[in-house]
Formats: sequence, C-alpha cells, structure tokens
Amino acid sequence: MSEPDHSAGHQDGIGTPDALDRLWTPHRMAYVRGESKPVDDTETQCPFCRVPAMEDAEGLVVRRGELAYVVLNLYPYAPGHLMVCPFRHIADYTETTDAEAKEVAELTKQAMHTLRTVSGVQGFNIGMNQGAVAGAGIAAHLHQHVVPRWLGDQNFMPIIGQTKTLPELLQDTRQLLADAW
Ligand SMILES: [Zn+2]
Repeated sequence: MSEPDHSAGHQDGIGTPDALDRLWTPHRMAYVRGESKPVDDTETQCPFCRVPAMEDAEGLVVRRGELAYVVLNLYPYAPGHLMVCPFRHIADYTETTDAEAKEVAELTKQAMHTLRTVSGVQGFNIGMNQGAVAGAGIAAHLHQHVVPRWLGDQNFMPIIGQTKTLPELLQDTRQLLADAW
C-alpha cells in the first residue's frame, strides 16, 4: 500500500454496517503517522521483530504460526487491515524459504476466511510493497497486506498525514478476529 487513492472523490459512501464498522470510529484519537517509524533497518529498530515478543493484545497480534504471524496494522487503510509477516527479519520476498512462503500464503488465506466470517467483506487488496520506492513503510521486514474492502469504503480511508485510529477499538478488533480465527 502506498497512499490511499482519493481520486474517487466523494466521502459520503456508506458501507454495509457490520461488526468491524461498528468498531471503527476514527474520530476520537489521532496517531501522528510515523510515530513509531524505525530510524534504521536493524532488527532492534524493527517493529515487526519487536511485536512478536509482546503479549498478543499489546502487540495487536491476531494469530501466530510457526514461521510467520498475523498482526493488525496500527495505521489501517480499512478496519481489519491485517499484515502477515515472517518472524525472520528479511526484507525481500525472494529471501523467504519455501516453508516461510507457504505459511505466509496459508495465513493470508486464513485471514481472508476470518475477515469474511466476522464481517461482510466484499473484496480484498492483498500484496507486498517491496522497497521504500514501492511504498513500503517498513521496508526492512517483509509483510503482506490483507486489506478488506467494502463498497463505498472511501468513507473509511484515512486522510493522508492524519491517520486516525482508536487503540481501544483496535484491541476489540484484534480480539474479534483472534476469536473467530
Ligand atoms: Zn524485523
């Protein structure tokens, strides 16, 4: 994901109400984007290396596999925006072992199933940004985005530079998805 596409224009599209929508009220608390941006590419600076050491609720971890894990994006493009990350600090998809690539793929499929189960998801954007030039926010650690989409969901797109989320609601979303997995 680089930046949300605002070319569609209007902000009055209304998605189908569902559990995730109700958990998503991007009005009450603002994060300053880049707050937790790493200062370099080392593992100690890497949020995707730090997160697995945290409790699931604290790190917003939804699911742990053997070689990879699933975490909610702290700066979501849509409610339920997940990322599938290998535990290993590798930057490029070609650096994955076959087993890692397989588990990332399996967790991605499970993420889609789970999001469809808890919410009326109508589509997905799935993919990896490889390199900062391609829009990767944390370029040093591979992560696959799983972004659920609803008709009219421009409504939920963050305004560039003013991404607003509510940490407590991210916690609720995490719990909902973890329970439904
Ligand atoms: Zn890392």
